[in-house]
Amino acid sequence: MNEVKKIRDPGLMKDLSKRLASLRLTRPVTLMEVCGTHTMAIHRAGLPSLLPPELRLLSGPGCPVCVTPASYLDTAIAMARRYDAVLATFGDMMRVPGSSGSLAGLRSEGYSVEIVYSPLSAIEMARSMPGAEVVFLAVGFETTAPVVASSVLYAREHGVENFSILSAHKLVMPALELLISDRLLAVDGFMLPGHVSAVLGSEPYRDIAERYHHACVITGFETADIIQGILMLADQIERDDMTVAIQYSRVVKPEGNKQARAVIDRVFEVTDSDWRGFGMIPSSGLALRDEFRDFDAALRFPVEIEAGHEPDGCRCGEILKGHCAPPECPLFARVCRPESPVGPCMVSGEGTCAAFFKYSKRQGAYGSD
Ligand code: SF4
Ligand code: SF4
Repeated sequence: MNEVKKIRDPGLMKDLSKRLASLRLTRPVTLMEVCGTHTMAIHRAGLPSLLPPELRLLSGPGCPVCVTPASYLDTAIAMARRYDAVLATFGDMMRVPGSSGSLAGLRSEGYSVEIVYSPLSAIEMARSMPGAEVVFLAVGFETTAPVVASSVLYAREHGVENFSILSAHKLVMPALELLISDRLLAVDGFMLPGHVSAVLGSEPYRDIAERYHHACVITGFETADIIQGILMLADQIERDDMTVAIQYSRVVKPEGNKQARAVIDRVFEVTDSDWRGFGMIPSSGLALRDEFRDFDAALRFPVEIEAGHEPDGCRCGEILKGHCAPPECPLFARVCRPESPVGPCMVSGEGTCAAFFKYSKRQGAYGSD
């Protein structure tokens, strides 16, 4: 049986469900999932209703789209307006609100905003439009950064001069450290992101377990993976023996992906970065190194923007920090719905509000569209 078949085995699922149903904890425990895909999978499987009363799951800042600040979108929009640059973006970014509009709105005004599935497609676009300047909106965590770094190397090697990137890459560790120091949160353990950890490996999280005494399990995305991850976290906490365990061992190796990290280091350097909901987090982002400044859209197409602000009434910032759940936002399911999202957490396919809405709605909570 291959690894995926094994994790989908009905016998295993039955056993795990039984173990989850009989899980008893000797004290209240809060676990945070840091990846947006985990949030979606947890709600899709209806896990919150199966947990023992002492166990609480919180969603963290795990969706790269949700943590991209309004000021980043404002900058991209200003570049398109001022320089007539063609913006190339992942589809998820289209409806995310900036301070005074979205990329979708910009496109409806007649500006060029193209959806691409990879930065290499943006390079192809640049090649096919020699007279245009193509700016790729480089958003994502350690998972996306190696592909973007490789595309910059490729563009340089092949002399594609009308391609550049606007980097909003984020690093997961500094955000985790901030969450650990957040007194309002009191998280006992983290379900760590599977794809990011495939690049990082398990070593960078060691401090979280040993120094900060939080349980850590790198978890996969199948329902059985997630239940197993919860059981492993609960076990560490009950035994008071915090380590970094890898549940997702079919993909994540302790040493991570050295090649991917090397290509990130070759092209990017660590810089401070502005996160939606968190503000500026020191050393939490990636900027192009000086030798790649030709590909840095921020330097090639400078624009001035006013200070960005969140949509009125939106509580995405607090949701991303785990301070409140979507139904506590007064706009949730009333004004803010997937077809008319107010904040990024309802826009993105990995957003917490979208997950709550979609799967609670399936259970009849928020009426029909
Ligand atoms: S990139 Fe992968 S690990 Fe990171 S938030 Fe998205 S799904 Fe999760
Ligand atoms: S319901 Fe909408 S407005 Fe409220 S926090 Fe979520 S995304 Fe933001």
